[in-house]
Amino acid sequence: MEIYLDANATTPVLPQAAQAAMQALAHDFGNPSSVHSTGLKARALMDAARARAQRLLDTGGGQLLFVSGATEGIQTAVLSALNALRSRTNAGHAQWLLYGATEHKAVPEALKHWNALLGLGLEIKAIPVDTQGRHDLGFIREHAPRAGLVCTMAANNETGIVTDLAGIEAALEGSDCFWMVDGVQALGKLPLKLAASRIDYAPFSGHKLYAPKGIGLLYVREGAPFTPLMAGGGQEGSLRSGTENMSGIAALGAVLAALEDGSTFRSHAELTGYRNALAEALREAFPGIVFNAPLELSLPTTLNFAVPGLSSRLLQDLFDAADVRVSGGSACSAAKAAPSFVLQAMGLPDWQAAGAVRLSIGPAVDAAFIDEACARIRACGESLRQNCLSPQDNQPTVGDGITRFVHDGECCYLIADSASRRCVLIDPQPELASRLVQALGCQGYPLAAVLSTSGDAAHAEAREILFADLAPEMLPAAPADALGWPLGEDSIALGARRLVRRPTGEGQVLLLGADEAEFAFGNAPQAMLEPATLRAPTRDEAQQFVTLDEEAGMLSATQVEGVHLATFIAAHPGAMLIDVREPYEQFLTRTPELRGVHLQALPVSRLLNAVRPWLAEQSPLLFFCRSGNRSRQVAQAMARLGHRQAFTLAGGLALLPSQAAFAAAPDPALYV
Ligand code: PLP
Repeated sequence: MEIYLDANATTPVLPQAAQAAMQALAHDFGNPSSVHSTGLKARALMDAARARAQRLLDTGGGQLLFVSGATEGIQTAVLSALNALRSRTNAGHAQWLLYGATEHKAVPEALKHWNALLGLGLEIKAIPVDTQGRHDLGFIREHAPRAGLVCTMAANNETGIVTDLAGIEAALEGSDCFWMVDGVQALGKLPLKLAASRIDYAPFSGHKLYAPKGIGLLYVREGAPFTPLMAGGGQEGSLRSGTENMSGIAALGAVLAALEDGSTFRSHAELTGYRNALAEALREAFPGIVFNAPLELSLPTTLNFAVPGLSSRLLQDLFDAADVRVSGGSACSAAKAAPSFVLQAMGLPDWQAAGAVRLSIGPAVDAAFIDEACARIRACGESLRQNCLSPQDNQPTVGDGITRFVHDGECCYLIADSASRRCVLIDPQPELASRLVQALGCQGYPLAAVLSTSGDAAHAEAREILFADLAPEMLPAAPADALGWPLGEDSIALGARRLVRRPTGEGQVLLLGADEAEFAFGNAPQAMLEPATLRAPTRDEAQQFVTLDEEAGMLSATQVEGVHLATFIAAHPGAMLIDVREPYEQFLTRTPELRGVHLQALPVSRLLNAVRPWLAEQSPLLFFCRSGNRSRQVAQAMARLGHRQAFTLAGGLALLPSQAAFAAAPDPALYV
């Protein structure tokens, strides 16, 4: 079962809302502008939904329009205010458009867009926030007299921090500016009494509260200026033309009915209890965790945190493997690894802003769901402990062969031999030092050498950190030269294999192998290597993993769609299915046992160990991972190196139709 903890991005549709939408789609499908009975029915439905929203938001004499969502509501509000300011600015009155530094991007982007389009030329200024994410009220007070429009959200989508709307209202006193409050994250979670405040505009999105995407609301205070964004058939009293999204309105109406009757949504106190349970599970799973927003100032439905030493990406992969959906920073920026601008605006340290994970629940969750979520979070912590990634209490690990660590494209290699219990490190990076200390500690083999292939200052810096942080018995016993090579030694024995070196200008090439050189580390001139020696790169932004001097060139990997997996298996007897996810992910998801297929777990970080046998055997290899990204890179690399039967599972486990069967009911056609 999936545990969806990303409600601030979007929510599922409540069953009663889906039912209401289906009724509107299939039966009560009238156009509310039609005067016949079918149309009248649709109008009655729309009026009832609006009336509920008016009661819940206390809109008094203000307008409440159905729009497509908050982004449209924001455009309409900004256009309305700025169009009204045009006449005022002619008198040189307003100078600034102000928005909270942690607003959703839709707000500053709309301000920029309409300010330019209407030719207003006002200065757009961000209102600073403090380390707790609260607006600087002094700044607002100071700028309010010359502000044309002020935009402040009711609650933040990334941190859940609740805005001091009363404080802002007081700071705006005496100013004739307009005020927009983005109410998206507050709907259903905070009481809002709109008509009792001086708020001019308040946009909302249905899909953040169990209604479908494509329906939202815009509140416009009685007497506030209004300019329609869309002109046309005159719907919504000519304020918003276009035939209404009746299924969306019906569904939103059902959600609002549930809010009104109080039976579906949890109270603030219950949600606070749930949040505290989740926070406790997180503290247990990730010792040293830091919450990026004070819990007492935040919505009880949002937790934003970072864990020292663990990237946002690693944590997201870990949660996803446990079938727990969370997001890094905000959903919009999740694809980019950029630090969260919200956390940066709060002045949080870079590691917290870049390593942030957001966990958010919708107010309709129940205790059983939270119990399961807490159990999964604890399982994530256990996976880290079993795989030497936890900040505390890690289990010992067995190390053998080559493990690759990457920071910003720079590759570092740990080569270990479990029989002789020795290891060497090649090209360590300072940013990886604590991770390497942890890995070496779990493995417990002393270092025979810490080597640099280039003499790069970063390698020397990393070596110093390692020497300071590792126990003395873990450090190389022999004195070494500037590149870390043990003085007076011709080779370093690592079980059956040996490491030898060849000097190259400033640096050295390190050759690893038994009789012949299997791998070369460092930038080797072509003449130095045998044709079959695999080059392990010092930088690998393109995810090539290893290269050969003479590559097959023409070959490329083939994608296998999840729906065709059974056919693939039937057509490729003896195929090997290879899970390239990292061990901390594999620990949390059992891989399928497929009839007639060999399964192997070979994480990307350990890939180098298998490349040579795979190339020698040439049997069909189907790589898979969570999303299909890493497996595609591995399959491409194998094809490039000359493997003729390298396949990748397109879309990964995420799109595999019978993925549920891994844990629950196996599909007899596929599973032994
Ligand atoms: N405002 C806030 C605070 C939000 O969280 C979002 C969505 O993430 C939006 C505005 C934009 O909403 P929509 O994409 O539904 O138009």
